[in-house]
Amino acid sequence: MLSPDIIRRSAAAQAAALHAGETSSEELTRAHLDRIAAVDDDLNAFLHVSEEEALTAARDVDARRAAGEELHALAGVPIAVKDVVVTKGQPTTAGSKILEGWVPPYDATLVEKLRAAGLPILGKTNMDEFAMGSSTETSAYGPTRNPWDPDRIPGGSGGGSAAAVGAYEAPLAIGTDTGGSIRQPGAVTGTVGVKPTYGSVSRYGLIAMASSLDQAGPVTRTVEDSALLHELIAGHDARDSTSLPDPVGAYAEAARRRDVKGLRIGVIEELEGEGFAPEVRARFTESLDQLERAGAEIVRVSCPNFEYALGAYYLIMPSEASSNLAKFDGMRFGLRVIPEDHPTAENVMKATRGAGFGDEVKRRILLGTYALSAGYYDAYYGSAQKVRTLVQRDFAAAFEQVDVLASPTAPTVAFRLGEKIDDPTAMYMNDIATIPANLAGTPGISLPSGLAEDGLPAGIQFLAPARADERLYQVGGALEALLEDAWGGPLLAKAPELAGGAAR
Ligand code: GLN
Repeated sequence: MLSPDIIRRSAAAQAAALHAGETSSEELTRAHLDRIAAVDDDLNAFLHVSEEEALTAARDVDARRAAGEELHALAGVPIAVKDVVVTKGQPTTAGSKILEGWVPPYDATLVEKLRAAGLPILGKTNMDEFAMGSSTETSAYGPTRNPWDPDRIPGGSGGGSAAAVGAYEAPLAIGTDTGGSIRQPGAVTGTVGVKPTYGSVSRYGLIAMASSLDQAGPVTRTVEDSALLHELIAGHDARDSTSLPDPVGAYAEAARRRDVKGLRIGVIEELEGEGFAPEVRARFTESLDQLERAGAEIVRVSCPNFEYALGAYYLIMPSEASSNLAKFDGMRFGLRVIPEDHPTAENVMKATRGAGFGDEVKRRILLGTYALSAGYYDAYYGSAQKVRTLVQRDFAAAFEQVDVLASPTAPTVAFRLGEKIDDPTAMYMNDIATIPANLAGTPGISLPSGLAEDGLPAGIQFLAPARADERLYQVGGALEALLEDAWGGPLLAKAPELAGGAAR
């Protein structure tokens, strides 16, 4: 008899249970679908649940296992996918009304990999519209709620993936991170998230927001699970011109190493001062103390240009987005609004874009179009690109002194729904610590550092040089083990039980 607690185990432990024949993928997938049915009316982490498809995939992998086939380590473990990633035959909206009803005719490369490895796809997760936001409140389909407190935001833009994993609706999820959308939701929900090196996971089939910044990555409850999923989705793809040719690293092995002796960790001076909540800083410092006691060397480093990173991001990202979103014109995908008066092609486009895009998306299209316009291009877009180079140089100089960099992931714990939605600048400040890595293309991980203000989770972020993602798993895996020893188990075990969940 399957214990209902199986959904609370890590993905690696669920995979081990499948391997040992303690359960089947069908049973495991059903257990997660039941959990979704019990709690997701309250959380709204899923925009679409693909029950039949997930169960069919699960039965197929069970049959392959029974036939003695050699299977992927995560075969049979279900997963949720952020709705910005296209899935053949399953609706994909990117959280926007303009794509309502669109069913993609193809799979993203990473989805192909998930299917080939036998991971049943539970459904598509909620997100800020076109991944623009830090709270999942700009979704056209209503906000997702934080499993720790339903009055709070789950972070964004990938709040649906983080909430689904944090609430045991899925053991694994896919996120995307353009300025922090995997790491910041991880921090405020007590989960783990990784933004891989730019180019290491194929972007083919991601609905592009800012192509030079976007990167897909894992959202999980443990560092090892992120490593396993990262290994599965990474690798060269000829269909993405920015895909790296590198072989995939031994991330899971690094996550299990539990050794930081002699590792040099640089605390970024510009990212730990005012602007970060006192208890978030306290948990950050305590985490570093733990690592120091385990033999790491903690030094302070300065990255003076990080101060300008947010400003540069909010020119580069809208510029690229204004171009990427031009294709949503009412002709090719999803929504089409035909005005009664003069339904010319141009008027259909205007009406469709007017009705289909939300305020934040329109704000960024305007900003980006302005920044790219003749006469302003050098002053805005051009200057932002120069700052981007300076941020890259800060990273290069810092990584001459240290192996990894560290900072709190987000400045505060989860804020209340509605608190920042009318103040774009306050919303943008959430990504102050995460954006530099996107500008530089370098990888980052966020994992729980403990409970901070109001008893809510805070996150610590580690950053590594491009193509050195292993280091994130090494330091993350080691810190997670140290902290869980101190807490007597995972931080998520301290989250209050969800109303619907208790009825299980
Ligand atoms: N919150 C940031 C933004 O709104 C980052 C979003 C993301 O990483 N997709 O642009």
